[in-house]
Amino acid sequence: MLDYLIKNAMVVDGTGKAAYQAHVGVKGDRIAAIIADETLPEAKKVIEAEGQLLTPGFIDVHSHADVSLPVYPGGDNSIMQGVTTFVGGNCGMGVAPAYNEEFSRFYVLGQLQMKGYLNICWKSFGEWLDYVRSFPIGPNYAPLVGHNAIRGSVMGLDYNRVATDEELEKINSLLKEALDAGAFGMSYSSDPGFAGHCADLRELKILFKLLEERGSYVTAHTRHHQNQWPSDDGRHYYGVYVGEPGDVLCGRYHGLLEFMELFKETPKLTACYSHLTNAFLAPMPHSQAMENAMLDETMCMFVDEPAAKGYKIYFNVLPHQNSLSGIRKVVYDLSLSLAYDKEFKNYTEADILVNSLKDQSFREKLKVYIKSGKFKMNMISPATDPYWADCFTFFTAKDESLLNKTLMDVTKERTDGPTAEMVYTNCLDVLFDLIVEDPDLEWALTCDKREYMATDRLLSNRRGMPMTDSPSFPEKSDKWLSPMDYGNPPLSYTAMIRYLVDVCREGKVISTEEAIRRITTQAAEMVGIAERGYIGEGMKADLVLMDWEKLNYVIDFNNPSTPPTGIRYVFVNGNVALEEGRLTHVLSGEVLTKQSIQKVYD
Ligand SMILES: [Zn+2]
Ligand SMILES: [Zn+2]
Repeated sequence: MLDYLIKNAMVVDGTGKAAYQAHVGVKGDRIAAIIADETLPEAKKVIEAEGQLLTPGFIDVHSHADVSLPVYPGGDNSIMQGVTTFVGGNCGMGVAPAYNEEFSRFYVLGQLQMKGYLNICWKSFGEWLDYVRSFPIGPNYAPLVGHNAIRGSVMGLDYNRVATDEELEKINSLLKEALDAGAFGMSYSSDPGFAGHCADLRELKILFKLLEERGSYVTAHTRHHQNQWPSDDGRHYYGVYVGEPGDVLCGRYHGLLEFMELFKETPKLTACYSHLTNAFLAPMPHSQAMENAMLDETMCMFVDEPAAKGYKIYFNVLPHQNSLSGIRKVVYDLSLSLAYDKEFKNYTEADILVNSLKDQSFREKLKVYIKSGKFKMNMISPATDPYWADCFTFFTAKDESLLNKTLMDVTKERTDGPTAEMVYTNCLDVLFDLIVEDPDLEWALTCDKREYMATDRLLSNRRGMPMTDSPSFPEKSDKWLSPMDYGNPPLSYTAMIRYLVDVCREGKVISTEEAIRRITTQAAEMVGIAERGYIGEGMKADLVLMDWEKLNYVIDFNNPSTPPTGIRYVFVNGNVALEEGRLTHVLSGEVLTKQSIQKVYD
């Protein structure tokens, strides 16, 4: 007898093949039967699914849910959007191994801001996985080992330099140890700040070689992706990088080039660009036609050309138009980028900064700094995006007339003058006034111009996959809750749904079958996840049943955990994790480990 029989569903099996009508049976943790005819086996529960889509559970190839999993083991935000397996440890940011106590404390509690961790009770990568196995989790967790943790385990807090020969050997052996424990591959980040930043090409080549030998996978948060500006201070928040001024504009391109040059030396390695964006940074405003041309060239140069030569190359994309961060204090965003600058590091305490902003000469100095290219407001550099003030919307304010307005809206209300003056000067004066008037003022980055014009175009490429780039969050969370201190973004609950609705159903950029293929079989193949991502007899029963026409999402920064609509059932390992749109809180996820892969579908 079957446990579940899903009757008359339109099956989108994950391979890209046309949807077909069938009855799908689940027994234990497996898909036990796919039946076309009328004689149906008995089942403990029958789910009528006429007119609804049954797909494999989604695989989120770029997640940070592992980091907050010990705090929010349910991974509710994943399940709510149909994600049954997340690939954790991206951007070099896994929390294991943890051999150097001082580094781990600094890194996990400090850099990753995981205040929920009181006790880092693992050392090796295997011990971390055993620890996660010791409590029930919602989605399946496919682990990558983060290069930061490996490097910090070997070099401690003295990681802002090139490794010695002896250290390199240890770094290599810790990667080996993690792969032996079941890691699917390695992620690394070359952006300033984290321990991976100062790894030289020799180190990366050695690690890439080992990954290639193991038939493994590498994914890169490429250099200058986030931080294009030069820093002249050794203790800069984002690291010690002393950049070339030209990289304020060409940095992203150089970062992508660096990764491509690296993976081309290891042709059997599967490689993935993390959160690919336009390689060519053109200041806003610019036309969509120009954006499209640059995106096409980005994909041609970094993806299609190496793919045509046989490299196993993929990329993932943030399917959003707003932000990875939620509501934050304005003064916090302002102080973040000041913290490690020689001139401003003593002004980062909120009280001191607010007081200093009453002084015109301080304001003038700060303006010069903000325009220098070294400063970022949250994720946006005013030097490369002069129209940044369009991107921030106020959500909490003493003066209610500010609510739901952008900084530019308020600037236009309060000042006169030609647009260019508003953009370059007035908006800063207005911002400083607002902070002085209301130090608790809060806003969110509601329009991330780095990506919002690019998502559809990037995802038109068959090697592109959407992802959440998100930690694990609970089902109901207020706007202030954040495991990682950057606010709670609606994106964390909606990324996959936004992709399906905006890119596929409404945008018609790709077909339904192709949209599902990207986040199922293609994701599983890229990472090396066996037995999942495909609806076939004998496969693990990770499934999503949805009402395609009702599928939708809401971006509400005040209520970031507003659930998507249209997702009816989610099965994880044959258990119902979401029923009629509601979480059951049955936690049946598993820690997956890399096994030799056998493709069982065509
Ligand atoms: Zn990243
Ligand atoms: Zn990431």
